[in-house]
Parts: sequence; structure tokens; C-alpha cells
Amino acid sequence: MSKILVTGGAGFLGSHLCEKLLLAGQNVLCVDNFFTGSKANVSHLFEDPDFELMRHDVTLPLYVQVDKIYNLACPASPVHYQHDPIQTTKTSVHGAINMLGLAKRLKARILQASTSEVYGDPEVHPQVETYWGRVNPIGPRSCYDEGKRCAETLVLDYHRQVHLQVKVMRIFNTYGPRMNPKDGRVVSNFIVQALTGEPITIYGDGSQTRSFCYVDDLVDGMVKLMESPADFTGPVNIGNPGEFTMLELAELVLKIVGGSSKLIFLPLPADDPKQRQPDISLAKTALGWAPRVPLEDGLKETAAYFRKILA
Ligand code: NAD
Ligand code: UDP
Ligand code: UDP
Repeated sequence: MSKILVTGGAGFLGSHLCEKLLLAGQNVLCVDNFFTGSKANVSHLFEDPDFELMRHDVTLPLYVQVDKIYNLACPASPVHYQHDPIQTTKTSVHGAINMLGLAKRLKARILQASTSEVYGDPEVHPQVETYWGRVNPIGPRSCYDEGKRCAETLVLDYHRQVHLQVKVMRIFNTYGPRMNPKDGRVVSNFIVQALTGEPITIYGDGSQTRSFCYVDDLVDGMVKLMESPADFTGPVNIGNPGEFTMLELAELVLKIVGGSSKLIFLPLPADDPKQRQPDISLAKTALGWAPRVPLEDGLKETAAYFRKILA
């Protein structure tokens, strides 16, 4: 049985990953500082003797004994990562250094959660891994985008310089149960607004696009990447290529949830990417992975979750 460290394990994606690893018979050490995650996200795992939860901030060194490391610690929603941008960069950069140092000492394999934000506001569409991106280095999103880019640099340098086994996963917008209802991402906002009869907040004219991946598909891709052959490091895009405007998303949410919410239009945040869609050819050939859950089905599951926690 492998012992697996999941940093950010009490967050949205991390909690689903912990669950999946335990189901596969692994031993899981979940490390989190509870900035955006919560004990409640993993409390259903406390009874499992193979699960352990540790409060710790990855910007500080960590001395534990594990075989594999999934480094997910980092707030993912713009509202949260812009709340304390200096801490966000520290989490990505110092966090990566510490987890890479840990991996080096233990000769453990490490997977770094990167992001489609490394492509910035892209002029190549859909985005392929070979595209270097168009990121503003000094804007309000830079703490996240550049932090993640630097983490990718560190991961590949530890691979080249000290021969660590590494995996870089570029995650595209993901949604599903256990998203934080207050974290300001578009899917959680729209569903909660529709459920509570509040206006649906469209930023800009709503013509910008995103491609939404259901959490089960995403976590499946994450484990496939971790278990892929040693010579495959990535970066690899994991996401669902189905691309929607924010207006289309709002209509779909209203169709699924019902209710009488009106649309209101608010200013577009600075540097908000205009379009985003993953090219997943590499994930298909290298990992045999493709998403299965269509947006409408995933939104129904997510709406059912929010309906339950809002009740
Ligand atoms: P989340 O905010 O729900 O989870 C992040 C977790 O990391 C939280 O539990 C938080 O408390 C923890 N954390 C933050 N800073 C920490 C620190 N310094 N030390 C220890 N723990 C810390 O977000 P998520 O959606 O689950 O994202 C998980 C990872 O996936 C992040 O690295 C994020 O950048 C990446 N990602 C997510 C998406 C998405 O759409 N959800 C897209 C691209 C990339
Ligand atoms: N580190 C850690 N746990 C370990 C080993 C290292 O947290 O088990 C941290 C430590 O803080 C160090 C960082 O990882 O600063 C980078 O480690 P590395 O060995 O690459 O660098 P060095 O220790 O030589 O600075
Ligand atoms: N957005 C929106 N209304 C909201 C929240 C977000 O129109 O209430 C838009 C946002 O401007 C962006 C898209 O939805 O164009 C996705 O935003 P999110 O924060 O979910 O993800 P990211 O911008 O990081 O891809």
C-alpha cells in the first residue's frame, strides 16, 4: 500500500482526490491550512483508518514519510487568490520548493497542479501545451498565473537537475459538488444565484468563453497522469473541450435549476481571458484519458449539492 500526500486535500479538488485514492486502497495524508478548504470537506473520511488530516501551511518545510505527492495547495478562485496576493505567490513558489525538496529527500514522485491560466489571455485557440501563453506579469491575476508558471519551472528543473520523477497537470475550469458556494467562481455563483432567486451576475457582455470539466473526470485524469510512465512529465492539459459563453452557461443553469432570476451585467474584471478551450490530444494519446460527463449532467449533480447545503 502506498502512502500518498495530498496538499490542499481539504479543498474542492483535493477532497475528491483523497476519496478516490482511499477507494483504491491507498493510505492518504491530507495536508491543508484551511484557507479555502475545510474539515467539513473531508469529515466523511475521518472514520477511515487509512486517512489522516494535518493542518500545515506548505510555505513552511514539511518532514513526513510518503511515496507520492500531489501538490494541490493553492486557492483557485480569483476572489480568494487576490485576497492576499503575496501569500498566493508564496504558496505556489515556496510551496513547490518545499514539496520538491521533500520529494527529493524521499525519492518520491510528485504531481504539480498547474492551470490553464499559464496561457493567460490566449491568442492560440484551442490551447495546446506547446503554446507559451500571454500572461500579464504585473496585473491582479499575476500572483496566481506567474506563481503557477514559476512552479512549473521549478518542477521541470528538479526533474532535469536532480532527476526527480515529476508530472505537470494543466487543469482547466473544473466544477462539481464541494465547490465553496462563496468562492466567486462562475458555476457556483450562477447556481447559488438561481437557487436563491438572486440576479445572475454576468461580468462584461457574457461573450467570453470557458470550457468546464466535471470533477470526477478531472480527478480520474489526475490519477492517470500520476500513474503514467516515468518518462512522461507533461505538461498536459486536462479539461473538457466543450466551450460555452457565460451567457450560454447562465441559460443552461436557469433551465436546470428553474426559478425567476434575472440576468444583470457587471464590469468585466481586469485581464479576464476572452476565450479558453483545452486541446486534449496529448491527454488522449499519452494517458488514454478523455472526459465523459457532459456539462448539463454535471450541472445537475452540482445543483443538487448546493440545494442540499443551502437548505
Ligand atoms: P480550493 O481553493 O478548493 O482548494 C485549495 C486548497 O489548498 C484549500 O483546501 C486551501 O485551504 C489549501 N491551501 C491554500 N493555501 C495553502 C497553503 N499555503 N498551505 C496549505 N494548504 C493551502 O481550490 P481547488 O479548485 O480545489 O484547486 C486545487 C488546485 O487545483 C489548486 O492548485 C488550483 O490552482 C488548481 N486548479 C484548479 C482549477 C479549478 O477549476 N478548480 C483550475 C485550475 C487549477
Ligand atoms: N524540505 C522539506 N522537507 C524535506 C526536505 C526539504 O520541506 O523533507 C524543504 C526545505 O525547506 C528546503 C526545500 O525543501 O529548503 C528545498 O529542498 P532542497 O533539498 O531542494 O534544497 P536545499 O535544502 O538544499 O535548500
Ligand atoms: N464570471 C461571471 N459571473 C460571475 C463570476 C464569473 O460572468 O459571477 C465570469 C468571469 O468574468 C470569467 C468566467 O466567468 O470570464 C469564469 O470565471 P471564474 O472565476 O469561474 O474562472 P476563471 O476566470 O479563473 O477562468
